Amino acid sequence: MSAWESAQQQLAEAVAQLGLDDGFHDLLRTPRREVTVAVPLRRDDGQVEVLHGYRVQHNLSRGPAKGGLRFHPDTDIDEVRALAMWMTWKCALIGIPYGGAKGGVAVDPKLLSRNELERVTRRYASEIMPVVGPEKDIPAPDVGTDEQTMAWFMDTYSIHSGYTVTGVVTGKPTALGGSLGRGGATSRGVMYSVFCALRDADLQPHDVSVAVQGFGKVGGLAAQFLHDAGCKVVAVSDVEGGVYNPDGLDPIALLRHVRGGAGTVVGYPGTDRITNDELIALDVDVLVPAALEGVIHDGNADEVRARFVVEGANGPTTPDADKVLEDRGVLVVPDILANSGGVAVSYFEWVQDLQAYFWSEDEVNVRLRKLMEGSYAEVSELAADRKVSMRTAAQMIGVGRVADAHRIRGLYP
Ligand code: GLU
Repeated sequence: MSAWESAQQQLAEAVAQLGLDDGFHDLLRTPRREVTVAVPLRRDDGQVEVLHGYRVQHNLSRGPAKGGLRFHPDTDIDEVRALAMWMTWKCALIGIPYGGAKGGVAVDPKLLSRNELERVTRRYASEIMPVVGPEKDIPAPDVGTDEQTMAWFMDTYSIHSGYTVTGVVTGKPTALGGSLGRGGATSRGVMYSVFCALRDADLQPHDVSVAVQGFGKVGGLAAQFLHDAGCKVVAVSDVEGGVYNPDGLDPIALLRHVRGGAGTVVGYPGTDRITNDELIALDVDVLVPAALEGVIHDGNADEVRARFVVEGANGPTTPDADKVLEDRGVLVVPDILANSGGVAVSYFEWVQDLQAYFWSEDEVNVRLRKLMEGSYAEVSELAADRKVSMRTAAQMIGVGRVADAHRIRGLYP
């Protein structure tokens, strides 16, 4: 099942629970604006290649569109649509005044030089310039992009505007108006979500073992934060495969291994090599999928042995797999809640940029924790009240708020 089909099915479930009519359902499922751009790239050897880029603004009813920019070879318009829709519900769920968007360029950033990456970013930014801006649509990092990508994007936008516009993107370096705490925000939020789930089950961090799929920006730091909090992180993986040690791993030492030339967690001394599929099926308490969509599906959901699945990635569990996990009593803390720390601190960054007044890292982290614990409590209360999964409850809150915004604004003309 594709990400777009998953997103549509989840929406249909929330719409049914909320009792919204077909007209509303249509309004909510149809992306508001989609831009497809050609991104001609001059390779370092002089050859020209034309890449395909996208920006989808799924919904704008509650404020400017907001969402990351992904560089990945498999990115296509349908994936970007799904990711944009999830951003809409995520922003509404955590109560920040944004609609949802996502962008993507179908390219493997690992195969480009730094100069080529800069040219792709700048050309893509120029091509989508008419639809972005601090009051229109604010990109941020996602899979395959980072602070540097945002710096190039912001610079390109600013040069075309004739003045510096820091608020056009978030997830920038702090030297350019980025927020303290943004780099680790998604992972920190994943940790807070794990804490909330454990607290409701009367467990402490040191009681549990954890497996993290994806050792990138989100999974790498989530593993580190959870390890520092006392959890036993027994397995992590990346695209090359995973490593497992039932006695626990040290994520900092692993990161040194990756950055020190190995380029992958695989081969880390004192560990068994496992596949990504084996990681999903490990006998652990907490499973954190923090890579790509659709990794827990109807073919492997019944192999999940974790008691908690805390979704660091967007869309890692398909609706079919959700049903299997629910029947088996696995608690899934859904993506739009569990990974919302990133966009939450993006919002803080944008607010700081607009005010040109910056907060301490402590202030950012305290506000993030409060916001996430509040959202978690709302979702778990609704899930208990309505006897639905945390996913459906989270979607009901997000979708319900967007539907309310449409209703109150009215339909023009
Ligand atoms: N790419 C992140 C997400 O999927 C962050 C988006 C943002 O900060 O705008 O939530």
